[in-house]
Amino acid sequence: MPIKTIRSIINGKEVASKLPPFDKIYPATGEVIASVEPASPDMLDEAVQHAAEAQRKWAAMAGHERSRILNNIAQILRDHNEALSAIEVQDVGKVYAEAVSADVPSGAEAFEFFASLAATYHGTSHKWPEAIGYTMRVPLGVCAGIGAWNYPVQVACWKAAPALAAGNAFILKPSEETPLTANALADLFDIAGLPQGLFQVVHGDHEIGQAICAHPQIAKISLTGGVDTGKLIMAQSAQTLKKVTLELGGKAPLLVFDDCDFDLAVQTALDANFYTSGEVCSNATRVFVQNSLAEKFTNAVTARAKEMVIGDPMQPETQIGAMISEGHMQSVLAHIKTAEQQGAKIVAGGKQVHPKELEGGYFIEPTILSDCTDEMDCVRKEIFGPVMSVLTFASEAEAVRRANDTPFGLGAGIMTRDISRAHRVADQLQAGNIWINSYNLIPPGLPFGGSKQSGFGREGSIYAMEAYTEVKAVYVQL
Ligand code: NAD
Repeated sequence: MPIKTIRSIINGKEVASKLPPFDKIYPATGEVIASVEPASPDMLDEAVQHAAEAQRKWAAMAGHERSRILNNIAQILRDHNEALSAIEVQDVGKVYAEAVSADVPSGAEAFEFFASLAATYHGTSHKWPEAIGYTMRVPLGVCAGIGAWNYPVQVACWKAAPALAAGNAFILKPSEETPLTANALADLFDIAGLPQGLFQVVHGDHEIGQAICAHPQIAKISLTGGVDTGKLIMAQSAQTLKKVTLELGGKAPLLVFDDCDFDLAVQTALDANFYTSGEVCSNATRVFVQNSLAEKFTNAVTARAKEMVIGDPMQPETQIGAMISEGHMQSVLAHIKTAEQQGAKIVAGGKQVHPKELEGGYFIEPTILSDCTDEMDCVRKEIFGPVMSVLTFASEAEAVRRANDTPFGLGAGIMTRDISRAHRVADQLQAGNIWINSYNLIPPGLPFGGSKQSGFGREGSIYAMEAYTEVKAVYVQL
């Protein structure tokens, strides 16, 4: 396969960099498929100047005109779903069936949802005896998104759609692991009629990320990444007092009560751990099962995990694709080893696999750890791989207390047929998103984001519009 050169997209054009390029590897084979030229701070500055100019015209347009272009983007994303999904597979090594059914459609849905808000989002009006007042939501100017590698299309669209809807320009720095889809998105947005300079891409690692944080004309950063990165980005952005949204990591609990729909609970636990090879921030990696169900549940998830098809992400029967990189795969394997040393029992998986003709790829079996306790590293730390830890509990109060015993607070799930219990437990769980008898479903309009150290700010909802605007109040003396 010829090696592509991936360059930053500034004002609609690929711009060459003088900095040394780095390799982009296809995770399913371990082969280099692209050479990526990182952006320099000068290139970032050039992008910011184009963004600022384009933003002034964009913000001056009527909301319904912006809305029409954003709806065009949604349609173009749907029209190019298959091609874009194939690129996402090259980026992430994830299963094509997931990308085509979830990742790209969820990007299109975000553009549709925020297109409607572009046309309808408004302020408030006020009246006093001698005066009236009103508020406007005004765009921030030039905003930036810094992405993680697990959902590059979704992360880009979930950030760009509200930013653009609100009248901002947007600069994307995709993860250095997944540079391909960002350029494909820039091409598609161009076809959809988005004026140049409103969506630009700068490539590179934390160095250009730091330059984004330091740039005085960038008003806001939305990060999707790890907790430690979130802390750094907040600190780096303090000097220029940027607004920051942080979508960070998690260690979510799934509470399986003995009154649940058993088959649904088994399926939900599998989906909430092994979708996207377990590389999902909100995954429910701590599965708490009520004592009377524990053995039957562990046997059922174990049997199902052992049947899962691992291998070529492009094949329709594949359920588990590749891990993002050799380094990340080794980190997940090290976590599994530590879990075993600390007393957890590997009842399914646990090893690297070498599918035929993909021997150089980074594949790990879906892994289930039983006999876990709350102190073990596998229960406390984010592994970000296909590793489910099963724990048992006696009472509802105990389950809630232990579920909340974590610095993270991104997601949580509840499996029960008791409607009162479902709402009572949802009320007590400390997380930004709670799913009852389901998991990881985030339709457009519902906010997504974390509490505690999983971050702050929300995506995918009217709260995202708030985060890409600020309020201006006007007082009129009569
Ligand atoms: P990461 O934190 O290593 O990197 C995220 C991004 O930050 C990358 O683009 C990276 O280049 C950039 N970056 C790193 N250091 C930086 C710095 N000092 N200044 C500026 N930019 C910097 O995360 P990752 O390995 O790409 O992704 C995995 C993590 O992302 C996991 O912890 C996962 O839970 C989290 N995640 C969260 C969500 C969410 O919505 N909450 C979604 C997906 C992934």
